[in-house]
Amino acid sequence: RLYNELIELRGNIRVFCRCRPLNSDEISKGYSNVVEFDSLLETELQIICNDSSRKQFKFDQVFGPSANQEAVFAETLPVVMSALDGYNVCIFAYGQTGTGKTFTMEGTPENRGVNYRALEVLFSSSAKRSSNVAYGFSVSMLEVYNERIRDLLAENNDQMAKKLEIKQSSDGTHEVPGLVESDVHTIDEVWEILRTGGKNRSVGSTSANELSSRSHCLVRVTIKSKNLVSGQRNRSHMWLVDLAGSERVSKIDVEGERLRESQFINKSLSALGDVISALASKNPHIPYRNSKLTHLLQSSLGGDCKTLMFVQISPSSADLGETTCSLNFATRVR
Ligand code: ADP
Ligand code: MG
Repeated sequence: RLYNELIELRGNIRVFCRCRPLNSDEISKGYSNVVEFDSLLETELQIICNDSSRKQFKFDQVFGPSANQEAVFAETLPVVMSALDGYNVCIFAYGQTGTGKTFTMEGTPENRGVNYRALEVLFSSSAKRSSNVAYGFSVSMLEVYNERIRDLLAENNDQMAKKLEIKQSSDGTHEVPGLVESDVHTIDEVWEILRTGGKNRSVGSTSANELSSRSHCLVRVTIKSKNLVSGQRNRSHMWLVDLAGSERVSKIDVEGERLRESQFINKSLSALGDVISALASKNPHIPYRNSKLTHLLQSSLGGDCKTLMFVQISPSSADLGETTCSLNFATRVR
């Protein structure tokens, strides 16, 4: 409960900004660092524009290049814990391709990210809680590509290619009938499932890396609880979302399929921005139906649901334009 009181004090929508380190390729090309952090204020950063002027941005939390996965997860923990308390939760990673969205969410085997750590803490905390409550967890994994939903845990390619639709159930929640939902009991099982799903992301594409930057990847954790004394049951979802790259592509440089993809991405990312900013400004009309992504997440965005958005940025002078766009997007949703 303590976690929830903390979150309620700060509102249901939080925006964190994470900046990756300058990489060796950028250093060898002579690009400079254009993002500066205040050593004391963990909620502000400045970007140095081409004319040497500075622009300041404020967030609920800012992580500079030296922040490790543990430090990032420590701030994410309250949102994860509220899922165990029965709240629906969405955690997003937004940003240009190559800024660390997958690093933050999935991580690497040596530096595991939010997805793994969140499940790990759900297992350990549920075991430590009152013996009067029994918890059960299951995991689904899907991809939204060109406004189509693909089940990444489906048995085979045929199953994966079948068209999945979003349906509203009688209790008002949004479901995807036919989506595979795997019960999980240990963190090792989760790691295997996430790896299997991750591999399925690349099917049908010539370059795995390319497709992954143009589709949204969603992990849905279902948390079921039953109070063994009162018999009361509860079910909540925690969505862990690695969004498609937010970079703008020039209509002059691309055509055909690539242009179509980028139009779908723009549409769904701006729909997400519209929904979150409508929620943040307490607008009574929330435009969930404008994209598959927001429609899918409708029951987990708004109301007393908790939303956390990681805005990922690059420190490089070469990416200044995209960084500015991402920071402006983040400002809009806050
Ligand atoms: P995205 O998913 O946004 O396209 P990635 O997560 O694939 O970006 O990150 C691009 C590269 O940068 C990867 O090699 C990743 O390991 C590295 N990287 C990203 N963020 C960090 C970080 N905070 N610290 C160290 N390396 C990082
Ligand atoms: Mg990625």
